[in-house]
Amino acid sequence: MSEQLPDGVERRAFDGSERLATRGEPVYGEPTEGEWRAWNPNRSKLGAMLELGMDTSLDGGETVLYLGAASGTTVSHVADFAGPTYAVEFAARPARDLLEAAESRPRLFPLLKDARKPETYAHVVESDVDVLVQDVATRGQARVALENRRFLADGGQLLLAVKARSEDVTRDPDDVFADVREELEEGYEIVETERLEDYHTDHLGVVARPR
Ligand code: SAM
Repeated sequence: MSEQLPDGVERRAFDGSERLATRGEPVYGEPTEGEWRAWNPNRSKLGAMLELGMDTSLDGGETVLYLGAASGTTVSHVADFAGPTYAVEFAARPARDLLEAAESRPRLFPLLKDARKPETYAHVVESDVDVLVQDVATRGQARVALENRRFLADGGQLLLAVKARSEDVTRDPDDVFADVREELEEGYEIVETERLEDYHTDHLGVVARPR
């Protein structure tokens, strides 16, 4: 099976082992080789989705809205290969590091906003974004994805990481994932799901398209 990676993402050798990599300034102490830096799938759900061969359909150059940017670990890799990348994070402390990651990335636009209130950033984010990436690890993950669907172009897609324990620590993750899937289907057609277990305990990766 030939591997589908976006333009700007390559497998490269770091200390003798092949790793996913993008070109940009390092952000989280990751190994570098020349202008390339390793993308650690244990620190990144989207990195794990790519490692697992999920069909993200990312080509490179897309407009991205990224929800739950934290200190910029994953979104910095995204901004290395994507087009304009709007990064929403509501916690001030990680957002400071996110601002630093954006300094060397002219296409990365940090927004200190609450992803449950898309109307507060609708005037900044261009409509018709190609890809909505979400990793908010908070209760109501399906609802956040549904409320931000308005930004997605018709042919766009959602790349979502669902953390079961953020919904309910006491329930079986499979039951939580079934409920999240059902709720998501109010606004999305689910294309693929895969447990990210090799890299992230009790997380589900979801690829979906707006209905
Ligand atoms: N995606 C990040 C990465 O791979 O580098 C890690 C994200 S961490 C698991 C989840 C982040 O979502 C936290 O930084 C948290 O503050 C943020 N978050 C949770 N709820 C949010 C909301 N309603 N709006 C914006 N950010 C939110």
